[in-house]
Amino acid sequence: MKRYIILGGGIAALSAAKAIRKNDPSGLIVLLTNEDALPYNRPALTKQLLGDLSAADIAVERAAWYDAPGRDIIVLTGRTVSAIDTKEKTVSLADGLVFPYDRLVYALGARCFVPPFAGSDRENVIAVRTVEDAARVRRLAKGAKDAVVIGGGVLGLEAAWSLRQGGLNVTVIEFEKQIMARQIDEEAAAHLISAMDKHGVALLTQASAAAYDGKVLTLADGRTLPADLVIVSAGVRANAEIAAAAGIKVDRKILVDQRMQTSAPDVYAAGDCAVCGVSYALWAEAGEMGKVAGTNAAGGHAEYKAGPRPLIFHGFDTELFAIGDVGRDPAKTYEVGAMPGARYYSVGDKVVGAILTGDTSLALEAKKLVLENA
Ligand SMILES: Cc1cc2nc3c(=O)[nH]c(=O)nc-3n(C[C@H](O)[C@H](O)[C@H](O)COP(=O)(O)OP(=O)(O)OC[C@H]3O[C@@H](n4cnc5c(N)ncnc54)[C@H](O)[C@@H]3O)c2cc1C
Repeated sequence: MKRYIILGGGIAALSAAKAIRKNDPSGLIVLLTNEDALPYNRPALTKQLLGDLSAADIAVERAAWYDAPGRDIIVLTGRTVSAIDTKEKTVSLADGLVFPYDRLVYALGARCFVPPFAGSDRENVIAVRTVEDAARVRRLAKGAKDAVVIGGGVLGLEAAWSLRQGGLNVTVIEFEKQIMARQIDEEAAAHLISAMDKHGVALLTQASAAAYDGKVLTLADGRTLPADLVIVSAGVRANAEIAAAAGIKVDRKILVDQRMQTSAPDVYAAGDCAVCGVSYALWAEAGEMGKVAGTNAAGGHAEYKAGPRPLIFHGFDTELFAIGDVGRDPAKTYEVGAMPGARYYSVGDKVVGAILTGDTSLALEAKKLVLENA
């Protein structure tokens, strides 16, 4: 009987476990996660930030699912992995336990990056990655009046919208000249800003935090913003250090081939901690990588194909969908096919990107069109 150890308790880990069981009905499958919860739907956290969601409410699979006859997937929660030894083929936990493995899937995900401004370690500065983080926001939002969101990406704007709906005065600050500068065009950014404006949410671009005293956030240019709460949404860093310490090849993320194999024999990696070509750190991508890793770990054959992934935003009573290259490369000449609420970007005779704003009902068609040319 093969022993499969899966590090992590996110969607990449769960998808790997499912794929292993599909390909190996009798192997021992153990997931090790430092969270106190079964794998849950992480994207839901910022969509209903003040929504009092528990991990069980948004669990990907219910507890009974793991124990069902023929499934037998063991999830050990509250366990911190501290090291792996690829020669001895063991995993060590912080509590001293050691697990031998035949195949290892490394799916430790990513953590939020918090810019190192003075006061960034205060309790009311929160980067949301886990159900505990979201619970802390809910607790601190009670009685709070003003909030600042650092980062004008999708997750930052989702958080801003949730806080605004909860009655807080919200300002979003964005380091770049334009929000989501690499993913959307100026018109789409203007559409979002106007929607934010209608709901009284201010946006300051080319702004960064310099210091926070628990009540007032001071920006690098000296401006000040009242803030009972500061939400940070400034990107993520891969949890790849344990792999690097074990001698596995890492370049910020763990380097994997199309089969999700790392540089170490019998060690696969998947999700936000791994990269094969391009990586967007998205839910569907992590799930797919996990599936490929699990299939191959269990002796099957699967290959991962990286490709354009859609950006989807719902909030401020509007919608946004963007996919592919939407005119962001100054070295290219684009043709733009524009109609109300939709723009298609072409290079030569190929549609390379699309943006829909307001009404995104044509998203599937737009995605298909762009993927056909990818
Ligand atoms: C608030 C939020 C909203 C998002 N919204 C969207 C969205 O709308 N659409 C979208 O596509 N993507 C979204 N994402 C991104 C998406 O959730 C991630 O890409 C996806 O969850 C990555 O899955 P993963 O399994 O690779 O990593 P993770 O979900 O990060 O799972 C890794 C797991 O490993 C655990 N772990 C880490 N280190 C250790 C250790 N040393 N020992 C034991 N366990 C450890 C972690 O606690 C975690 O449980 C969102 C992310 C966040 C945080």
